[in-house]
Amino acid sequence: MSRITFLGTASAVPNASHHNAHFVLESGQRMVLVDCSGNPIVRFAEAGIDPMKLTDVILTHFHPDHVSGLPLLLMDLWLMGREQPLTIHGLQDDLDRMQKMMALFEWENWTEFFPVAFHDLVSEENTPVLMDAEITILASPVCHMIPAIGLRMELPEGVVSYSTDTGPCESVIRLGMDANVLIHEAAGSAKGHTSAAEAGEAAAQAGVETLVLIHYPPDANPVELATEAGMAFSGTVVVAEDLMALELS
Ligand SMILES: [Zn+2]
Repeated sequence: MSRITFLGTASAVPNASHHNAHFVLESGQRMVLVDCSGNPIVRFAEAGIDPMKLTDVILTHFHPDHVSGLPLLLMDLWLMGREQPLTIHGLQDDLDRMQKMMALFEWENWTEFFPVAFHDLVSEENTPVLMDAEITILASPVCHMIPAIGLRMELPEGVVSYSTDTGPCESVIRLGMDANVLIHEAAGSAKGHTSAAEAGEAAAQAGVETLVLIHYPPDANPVELATEAGMAFSGTVVVAEDLMALELS
């Protein structure tokens, strides 16, 4: 069984019950954190997930609400005694910035720090992020205000796609084509973002079974969001809540 647990669901400004959007995928031997905001170790504890089992981190773009938790995560895993390597995937420029951020913390002086590998991704459609016998994750550039990648996660039980932050975008529809689940942002119709109604249109065009709305303003009414998304989309609409788990079996 593969499982996605939403560690946060809010757009850029969170509140007490909605942390910034990020989630963890558990599938087979892999545990993949997609984006890393807030205080990850606390979120893992609240979700009942062991952060030491993390194998990979994917950064979708270099906005603070998607990457600012990474230095804290790395430091805490080190202090918790982690020895296993961790791979961080992202666009090359984002990983360069991440390493500059870590250099400010002088992480080269963190003694016996576990190995961290960087996997630079090119900004092209269907770039392989992860491929093993059980899962394949592909990335494509999406339509945000800075370079950003959406994901297509091909799991043993089905396909889950993730828009990350984006305006309405053809490549998101291709990433989501015939997926079981499309996780789509619904921050609103500002530049580089998408309204719930537009997310519903994307889900309909991609032909997915279930649309999960994420990265929405935390004071939005979830019933209204779902109703908006359902205007163009006849499948199931779920408004993600913090610590909600989505199980694929
Ligand atoms: Zn963003």
